[in-house]
Amino acid sequence: MSAILPGATIGFLGGGQLARMMALEARRMGYRIAILDPDPDGPAGQVADHCIEGSFDDVDAAQRLAEHSQVVTLDTEHIPAEVLERIEKTTPVRPSADVLRIIQDRLNQRRFIEAQGAPQVRWAAVSDPESLKEAGESIGFPCILKTRRSGYDGKGQARIERATDLADGWEAIGKAPAVMEAFVDFDREISTLLARGVDGEIRFHPLAHNDHRHHILHISRAPADVPPEMARQAQEIGEGLATALGHIGMIAAELFVKRDGSLLVNEIAPRTHNSGHYTFGACVTSQFEQHVRATCGLPLGDPSLQRPAVMLNLLGDLWSGGEPDWTSVWSHPSAHLHLYGKASARPGRKMGHVLVVDDGKNDPGAVAEKIYQDLQGAAPRASVARAG
Ligand code: AMP
Repeated sequence: MSAILPGATIGFLGGGQLARMMALEARRMGYRIAILDPDPDGPAGQVADHCIEGSFDDVDAAQRLAEHSQVVTLDTEHIPAEVLERIEKTTPVRPSADVLRIIQDRLNQRRFIEAQGAPQVRWAAVSDPESLKEAGESIGFPCILKTRRSGYDGKGQARIERATDLADGWEAIGKAPAVMEAFVDFDREISTLLARGVDGEIRFHPLAHNDHRHHILHISRAPADVPPEMARQAQEIGEGLATALGHIGMIAAELFVKRDGSLLVNEIAPRTHNSGHYTFGACVTSQFEQHVRATCGLPLGDPSLQRPAVMLNLLGDLWSGGEPDWTSVWSHPSAHLHLYGKASARPGRKMGHVLVVDDGKNDPGAVAEKIYQDLQGAAPRASVARAG
Protein backbone atom coordinates (compact mmCIF):
# COMPACT_ATOMS: atom_id res chain seq x y z
CA MET A 1 0.00 0.00 0.00
CA SER A 2 1.30 3.47 -0.80
CA ALA A 3 2.37 5.92 1.91
CA ILE A 4 -0.18 8.20 3.56
CA LEU A 5 1.28 11.64 3.03
CA PRO A 6 1.00 14.98 4.89
CA GLY A 7 -2.38 16.58 4.28
CA ALA A 8 -4.10 13.29 5.10
CA THR A 9 -5.99 12.84 8.38
CA ILE A 10 -4.75 10.47 11.07
CA GLY A 11 -7.49 9.19 13.38
CA PHE A 12 -6.70 8.43 17.01
CA LEU A 13 -8.77 6.06 19.11
CA GLY A 14 -8.27 7.65 22.52
CA GLY A 15 -7.30 11.23 23.17
CA GLY A 16 -4.90 11.07 26.11
CA GLN A 17 -1.36 12.40 26.41
CA LEU A 18 0.14 9.89 24.00
CA ALA A 19 -2.31 10.94 21.29
CA ARG A 20 -1.61 14.59 22.14
CA MET A 21 2.14 14.22 21.63
CA MET A 22 1.66 12.15 18.46
CA ALA A 23 -0.80 14.76 17.20
CA LEU A 24 1.65 17.61 17.91
CA GLU A 25 4.37 15.84 15.92
CA ALA A 26 1.96 14.88 13.15
CA ARG A 27 0.68 18.46 12.88
CA ARG A 28 4.23 19.74 12.55
CA MET A 29 4.60 17.33 9.65
CA GLY A 30 1.43 18.67 8.02
CA TYR A 31 -1.09 15.97 8.88
CA ARG A 32 -4.60 16.63 10.11
CA ILE A 33 -5.87 15.04 13.29
CA ALA A 34 -9.17 13.44 14.25
CA ILE A 35 -9.80 11.84 17.60
CA LEU A 36 -12.43 9.72 19.31
CA ASP A 37 -12.62 10.19 23.08
CA PRO A 38 -15.31 10.50 25.75
CA ASP A 39 -13.84 13.96 26.50
CA PRO A 40 -13.45 16.11 23.35
CA ASP A 41 -11.54 18.72 25.39
CA GLY A 42 -9.00 16.20 26.69
CA PRO A 43 -5.24 16.29 26.01
CA ALA A 44 -5.47 15.37 22.30
CA GLY A 45 -8.85 16.99 21.65
CA GLN A 46 -7.26 20.37 22.39
CA VAL A 47 -4.84 19.99 19.48
CA ALA A 48 -7.06 18.07 17.03
CA ASP A 49 -8.84 19.31 13.91
CA HIS A 50 -11.85 17.14 14.52
CA CYS A 51 -13.21 15.45 17.66
CA ILE A 52 -15.80 12.73 17.91
CA GLU A 53 -17.25 12.32 21.36
CA GLY A 54 -17.83 8.70 22.24
CA SER A 55 -16.78 5.79 24.38
CA PHE A 56 -14.14 3.30 23.26
CA ASP A 57 -16.69 0.53 22.76
CA ASP A 58 -18.94 2.69 20.56
CA VAL A 59 -18.56 1.02 17.16
CA ASP A 60 -20.60 3.67 15.32
CA ALA A 61 -18.43 6.46 16.72
CA ALA A 62 -15.28 4.52 15.72
CA GLN A 63 -16.76 4.05 12.25
CA ARG A 64 -17.28 7.82 11.96
CA LEU A 65 -13.66 8.37 13.00
CA ALA A 66 -12.51 5.91 10.34
CA GLU A 67 -14.62 7.66 7.66
CA HIS A 68 -12.86 10.90 8.56
CA SER A 69 -9.36 9.39 8.44
CA GLN A 70 -6.96 7.85 5.94
CA VAL A 71 -5.38 5.73 8.71
CA VAL A 72 -6.35 5.00 12.31
CA THR A 73 -4.08 4.40 15.28
CA LEU A 74 -4.50 4.45 19.06
CA ASP A 75 -3.13 5.77 22.31
CA THR A 76 -4.36 2.93 24.50
CA GLU A 77 -4.38 -0.82 24.08
CA HIS A 78 -7.73 -0.94 25.89
CA ILE A 79 -9.79 -0.20 22.77
CA PRO A 80 -11.83 -3.41 22.28
CA ALA A 81 -10.28 -5.52 19.49
CA GLU A 82 -13.82 -6.03 18.09
CA VAL A 83 -14.08 -2.29 17.42
CA LEU A 84 -10.81 -2.32 15.49
CA GLU A 85 -11.92 -5.39 13.57
CA ARG A 86 -15.01 -3.54 12.37
CA ILE A 87 -13.23 -0.41 11.19
CA GLU A 88 -10.27 -2.17 9.60
CA LYS A 89 -12.69 -3.43 6.95
CA THR A 90 -12.67 0.08 5.49
CA THR A 91 -9.58 1.89 6.82
CA PRO A 92 -6.03 0.75 7.67
CA VAL A 93 -5.71 0.39 11.45
CA ARG A 94 -2.22 0.27 12.93
CA PRO A 95 -1.69 -1.65 15.17
CA SER A 96 -4.28 -4.20 14.04
CA ALA A 97 -7.13 -5.92 15.87
CA ASP A 98 -5.03 -9.12 15.92
CA VAL A 99 -2.25 -7.38 17.85
CA LEU A 100 -4.70 -5.96 20.38
CA ARG A 101 -6.45 -9.29 20.87
CA ILE A 102 -3.14 -10.69 22.12
CA ILE A 103 -1.99 -7.70 24.13
CA GLN A 104 -5.14 -6.48 25.88
CA ASP A 105 -5.66 -9.77 27.69
CA ARG A 106 -2.76 -10.53 30.05
CA LEU A 107 -3.36 -14.26 29.72
CA ASN A 108 -3.17 -14.13 25.91
CA GLN A 109 -0.08 -11.92 26.20
CA ARG A 110 1.67 -14.37 28.57
CA ARG A 111 0.84 -17.28 26.26
CA PHE A 112 2.12 -15.35 23.26
CA ILE A 113 5.41 -14.47 24.99
CA GLU A 114 5.79 -18.10 25.99
CA ALA A 115 5.15 -19.29 22.42
CA GLN A 116 7.94 -16.97 21.24
CA GLY A 117 10.34 -18.48 23.76
CA ALA A 118 11.06 -15.04 25.29
CA PRO A 119 12.03 -15.07 28.99
CA GLN A 120 9.27 -13.91 31.32
CA VAL A 121 8.11 -14.02 34.93
CA ARG A 122 6.61 -17.29 36.16
CA TRP A 123 2.84 -17.07 35.84
CA ALA A 124 -0.40 -19.04 36.18
CA ALA A 125 -3.97 -18.35 35.10
CA VAL A 126 -6.63 -17.75 37.77
CA SER A 127 -10.34 -18.01 37.06
CA ASP A 128 -11.94 -19.55 40.19
CA PRO A 129 -11.10 -20.44 43.82
CA GLU A 130 -9.60 -23.75 42.75
CA SER A 131 -7.21 -22.30 40.14
CA LEU A 132 -6.37 -19.52 42.65
CA LYS A 133 -5.22 -22.14 45.18
CA GLU A 134 -3.31 -24.13 42.54
CA ALA A 135 -1.62 -20.97 41.23
CA GLY A 136 -0.53 -20.07 44.77
CA GLU A 137 1.00 -23.52 45.17
CA SER A 138 2.88 -23.42 41.87
CA ILE A 139 4.02 -19.75 41.91
CA GLY A 140 4.76 -19.37 45.64
CA PHE A 141 4.92 -16.17 47.72
CA PRO A 142 5.11 -13.24 47.51
CA CYS A 143 3.22 -13.07 44.24
CA ILE A 144 1.15 -10.52 42.32
CA LEU A 145 -2.35 -11.07 41.05
CA LYS A 146 -3.20 -8.96 37.96
CA THR A 147 -6.58 -8.76 36.24
CA ARG A 148 -6.51 -10.12 32.69
CA ARG A 149 -8.06 -6.94 31.31
CA SER A 150 -7.99 -3.17 31.80
CA GLY A 151 -5.12 -2.98 34.30
CA TYR A 152 -2.47 -0.27 34.16
CA ASP A 153 -0.14 1.59 36.55
CA GLY A 154 -0.75 -0.97 39.27
CA LYS A 155 -4.55 -0.77 38.91
CA GLY A 156 -6.21 -4.18 39.02
CA GLN A 157 -3.22 -5.62 40.90
CA ALA A 158 -2.80 -7.10 44.37
CA ARG A 159 0.38 -8.27 46.02
CA ILE A 160 -0.13 -11.41 48.09
CA GLU A 161 2.32 -12.31 50.85
CA ARG A 162 1.11 -15.73 52.01
CA ALA A 163 -1.32 -18.54 51.18
CA THR A 164 -3.84 -17.39 53.81
CA ASP A 165 -4.17 -14.00 51.97
CA LEU A 166 -5.06 -15.54 48.60
CA ALA A 167 -8.84 -15.05 48.94
CA ASP A 168 -8.43 -11.43 50.13
CA GLY A 169 -6.05 -10.67 47.25
CA TRP A 170 -8.49 -12.00 44.70
CA GLU A 171 -11.34 -10.10 46.39
CA ALA A 172 -9.23 -6.91 46.12
CA ILE A 173 -9.22 -7.18 42.32
CA GLY A 174 -12.95 -7.86 42.20
CA LYS A 175 -12.57 -11.65 41.74
CA ALA A 176 -11.92 -10.93 38.07
CA PRO A 177 -10.20 -13.47 35.80
CA ALA A 178 -6.52 -12.90 36.45
CA VAL A 179 -2.91 -13.92 35.97
CA MET A 180 -0.76 -14.66 39.00
CA GLU A 181 2.90 -13.73 38.69
CA ALA A 182 5.90 -14.51 40.85
CA PHE A 183 7.17 -11.37 42.57
CA VAL A 184 10.54 -10.59 40.98
CA ASP A 185 13.27 -9.23 43.24
CA PHE A 186 14.81 -7.32 40.33
CA ASP A 187 17.96 -5.26 40.22
CA ARG A 188 16.40 -2.67 37.92
CA GLU A 189 13.75 -2.11 35.26
CA ILE A 190 14.52 -1.17 31.69
CA SER A 191 12.44 -0.82 28.56
CA THR A 192 13.29 -1.50 24.98
CA LEU A 193 11.58 0.92 22.59
CA LEU A 194 11.41 0.24 18.90
CA ALA A 195 9.42 1.00 15.79
CA ARG A 196 8.45 -1.48 13.12
CA GLY A 197 7.51 -0.09 9.73
CA VAL A 198 5.01 -1.45 7.21
CA ASP A 199 7.86 -3.20 5.38
CA GLY A 200 9.13 -4.83 8.60
CA GLU A 201 12.02 -2.39 9.04
CA ILE A 202 13.02 -2.06 12.72
CA ARG A 203 14.61 0.94 14.43
CA PHE A 204 15.55 1.07 18.11
CA HIS A 205 15.49 4.07 20.39
CA PRO A 206 18.06 3.85 23.20
CA LEU A 207 17.01 1.69 26.15
CA ALA A 208 15.51 3.53 29.11
CA HIS A 209 16.25 2.79 32.77
CA ASN A 210 13.02 3.20 34.72
CA ASP A 211 12.25 3.80 38.39
CA HIS A 212 8.69 3.26 39.55
CA ARG A 213 6.99 4.50 42.70
CA HIS A 214 3.76 2.80 43.80
CA HIS A 215 3.71 0.93 40.45
CA ILE A 216 3.76 4.19 38.47
CA LEU A 217 6.75 5.34 36.45
CA HIS A 218 8.61 8.09 38.32
CA ILE A 219 11.82 8.68 36.39
CA SER A 220 13.35 7.33 33.13
CA ARG A 221 17.00 7.79 32.26
CA ALA A 222 18.42 7.35 28.78
CA PRO A 223 20.61 5.77 27.75
CA ALA A 224 20.22 3.01 30.33
CA ASP A 225 23.56 2.20 31.87
CA VAL A 226 23.67 -1.50 30.96
CA PRO A 227 26.43 -3.67 29.47
CA PRO A 228 26.34 -3.84 25.64
CA GLU A 229 25.49 -7.55 25.70
CA MET A 230 22.45 -6.92 27.90
CA ALA A 231 21.35 -4.06 25.63
CA ARG A 232 21.66 -6.36 22.61
CA GLN A 233 19.59 -9.07 24.32
CA ALA A 234 16.90 -6.56 25.33
CA GLN A 235 16.62 -5.30 21.77
CA GLU A 236 16.57 -8.82 20.37
CA ILE A 237 13.67 -9.71 22.68
CA GLY A 238 11.75 -6.59 21.59
CA GLU A 239 12.40 -7.20 17.92
CA GLY A 240 11.35 -10.86 18.15
CA LEU A 241 8.06 -9.96 19.83
CA ALA A 242 7.26 -7.06 17.47
CA THR A 243 7.97 -9.17 14.40
CA ALA A 244 5.97 -12.17 15.64
CA LEU A 245 3.03 -9.85 16.34
CA GLY A 246 3.26 -8.36 12.86
CA HIS A 247 3.09 -5.03 14.67
CA ILE A 248 3.27 -1.68 12.86
CA GLY A 249 4.28 1.38 14.89
CA MET A 250 6.13 1.98 18.14
CA ILE A 251 6.20 -0.84 20.65
CA ALA A 252 7.79 -1.12 24.09
CA ALA A 253 8.80 -4.19 26.06
CA GLU A 254 9.15 -3.55 29.79
CA LEU A 255 11.89 -5.76 31.19
CA PHE A 256 13.10 -6.72 34.66
CA VAL A 257 16.86 -7.11 35.02
CA LYS A 258 17.41 -9.83 37.60
CA ARG A 259 20.30 -9.72 40.06
CA ASP A 260 22.16 -12.32 37.98
CA GLY A 261 21.89 -10.02 34.93
CA SER A 262 19.26 -12.08 33.10
CA LEU A 263 16.16 -10.40 31.61
CA LEU A 264 12.45 -11.13 32.03
CA VAL A 265 9.61 -9.55 30.08
CA ASN A 266 7.12 -7.83 32.39
CA GLU A 267 4.76 -6.64 29.68
CA ILE A 268 4.45 -5.40 26.12
CA ALA A 269 2.83 -2.08 25.14
CA PRO A 270 2.02 -1.87 21.39
CA ARG A 271 2.22 1.94 21.25
CA THR A 272 4.30 4.89 22.29
CA HIS A 273 5.31 4.48 25.93
CA ASN A 274 5.82 6.68 28.99
CA SER A 275 9.45 5.51 29.28
CA GLY A 276 9.99 6.87 25.75
CA HIS A 277 8.85 10.43 26.51
CA TYR A 278 12.51 11.39 26.81
CA THR A 279 12.81 10.90 23.03
CA PHE A 280 10.63 14.03 22.56
CA GLY A 281 13.39 16.60 22.90
CA ALA A 282 16.40 14.31 23.29
CA CYS A 283 16.39 12.20 20.09
CA VAL A 284 16.70 13.13 16.44
CA THR A 285 13.29 11.51 15.88
CA SER A 286 10.90 11.25 18.84
CA GLN A 287 8.91 8.10 19.48
CA PHE A 288 5.81 10.12 18.55
CA GLU A 289 7.08 11.11 15.11
CA GLN A 290 8.39 7.58 14.62
CA HIS A 291 4.96 6.14 15.35
CA VAL A 292 3.38 8.56 12.89
CA ARG A 293 5.93 7.58 10.24
CA ALA A 294 5.34 3.85 10.76
CA THR A 295 1.56 4.29 10.83
CA CYS A 296 1.60 6.28 7.60
CA GLY A 297 3.95 3.87 5.83
CA LEU A 298 6.83 6.37 5.65
CA PRO A 299 10.50 5.42 6.05
CA LEU A 300 11.46 5.46 9.73
CA GLY A 301 13.48 8.34 11.16
CA ASP A 302 16.83 8.37 12.94
CA PRO A 303 16.15 7.46 16.59
CA SER A 304 19.61 8.39 17.91
CA LEU A 305 19.98 10.21 21.19
CA GLN A 306 21.43 13.70 20.80
CA ARG A 307 22.19 14.13 24.50
CA PRO A 308 21.61 11.90 27.54
CA ALA A 309 18.33 12.80 29.18
CA VAL A 310 16.12 12.19 32.18
CA MET A 311 12.33 12.31 32.23
CA LEU A 312 10.45 13.05 35.44
CA ASN A 313 6.73 12.26 35.55
CA LEU A 314 4.46 14.91 37.07
CA LEU A 315 1.60 13.18 38.84
CA GLY A 316 -1.58 14.80 40.13
CA ASP A 317 -0.28 14.54 43.72
CA LEU A 318 1.82 17.64 42.98
CA TRP A 319 -1.42 19.59 42.43
CA SER A 320 -2.80 18.88 45.92
CA GLY A 321 -2.42 22.55 46.90
CA GLY A 322 -3.30 24.02 43.50
CA GLU A 323 -1.20 24.60 40.38
CA PRO A 324 2.46 23.80 41.18
CA ASP A 325 5.01 26.61 41.26
CA TRP A 326 7.19 25.99 38.19
CA THR A 327 10.00 28.35 39.24
CA SER A 328 12.38 25.45 39.80
CA VAL A 329 11.79 24.17 36.25
CA TRP A 330 12.36 27.61 34.71
CA SER A 331 15.53 28.06 36.74
CA HIS A 332 17.23 25.12 34.99
CA PRO A 333 17.69 26.03 31.30
CA SER A 334 18.17 22.36 30.40
CA ALA A 335 14.75 21.44 31.85
CA HIS A 336 11.66 21.47 29.64
CA LEU A 337 8.07 21.40 30.89
CA HIS A 338 5.46 19.25 29.14
CA LEU A 339 1.87 19.57 30.40
CA TYR A 340 -0.96 17.53 28.95
CA GLY A 341 -3.82 20.00 29.45
CA LYS A 342 -5.81 17.80 31.82
CA ALA A 343 -8.51 19.81 33.57
CA SER A 344 -8.56 17.91 36.84
CA ALA A 345 -5.70 16.54 38.89
CA ARG A 346 -6.00 13.36 40.95
CA PRO A 347 -3.33 11.51 42.91
CA GLY A 348 -1.49 9.18 40.53
CA ARG A 349 -2.86 10.86 37.39
CA LYS A 350 -0.18 11.68 34.81
CA MET A 351 -0.49 15.45 34.32
CA GLY A 352 2.78 16.09 32.49
CA HIS A 353 6.51 15.50 32.65
CA VAL A 354 9.79 17.39 32.81
CA LEU A 355 12.56 16.53 30.39
CA VAL A 356 16.09 17.35 31.55
CA VAL A 357 18.78 17.08 28.90
CA ASP A 358 22.47 16.81 29.71
CA ASP A 359 24.02 20.28 29.41
CA GLY A 360 27.55 18.92 29.89
CA LYS A 361 27.79 20.66 33.27
CA ASN A 362 25.15 19.15 35.55
CA ASP A 363 24.03 15.56 36.01
CA PRO A 364 20.51 15.51 34.48
CA GLY A 365 19.38 12.95 37.08
CA ALA A 366 20.43 15.26 39.92
CA VAL A 367 18.68 18.23 38.25
CA ALA A 368 15.48 16.19 37.83
CA GLU A 369 15.63 15.06 41.46
CA LYS A 370 16.16 18.66 42.62
CA ILE A 371 13.19 19.84 40.55
CA TYR A 372 11.05 17.06 41.98
CA GLN A 373 11.98 18.00 45.54
CA ASP A 374 11.32 21.68 44.87
CA LEU A 375 7.94 20.91 43.32
CA GLN A 376 6.99 18.80 46.31
CA GLY A 377 8.15 21.38 48.81
CA ALA A 378 7.05 24.52 46.98
CA ALA A 379 4.05 26.43 48.20
CA PRO A 380 1.37 26.56 45.50
CA ARG A 381 1.52 29.63 43.26
CA ALA A 382 -2.15 30.28 43.83
CA SER A 383 -4.76 28.42 45.77
CA VAL A 384 -7.02 28.19 42.75
CA ALA A 385 -8.12 24.57 42.60
CA ARG A 386 -8.27 23.28 39.05
CA ALA A 387 -11.68 22.57 37.65
CA GLY A 388 -13.35 19.16 37.84
P1 AMP B 1 2.65 -3.32 35.41
O1 AMP B 1 1.40 -2.48 35.49
O2 AMP B 1 2.40 -4.77 35.32
O3 AMP B 1 3.63 -2.81 34.40
O4 AMP B 1 3.37 -3.08 36.83
C1 AMP B 1 3.82 -1.80 37.24
C2 AMP B 1 5.08 -1.95 38.07
O5 AMP B 1 4.83 -2.80 39.20
C3 AMP B 1 6.25 -2.61 37.35
O6 AMP B 1 6.92 -1.71 36.54
C4 AMP B 1 7.06 -3.08 38.55
O7 AMP B 1 7.75 -2.01 39.16
C5 AMP B 1 5.99 -3.59 39.49
N1 AMP B 1 5.72 -5.02 39.18
C6 AMP B 1 4.78 -5.49 38.33
N2 AMP B 1 4.84 -6.84 38.26
C7 AMP B 1 5.84 -7.24 39.07
C8 AMP B 1 6.40 -8.50 39.41
N3 AMP B 1 5.93 -9.65 38.90
N4 AMP B 1 7.44 -8.52 40.29
C9 AMP B 1 7.92 -7.37 40.83
N5 AMP B 1 7.43 -6.15 40.56
C10 AMP B 1 6.40 -6.07 39.68
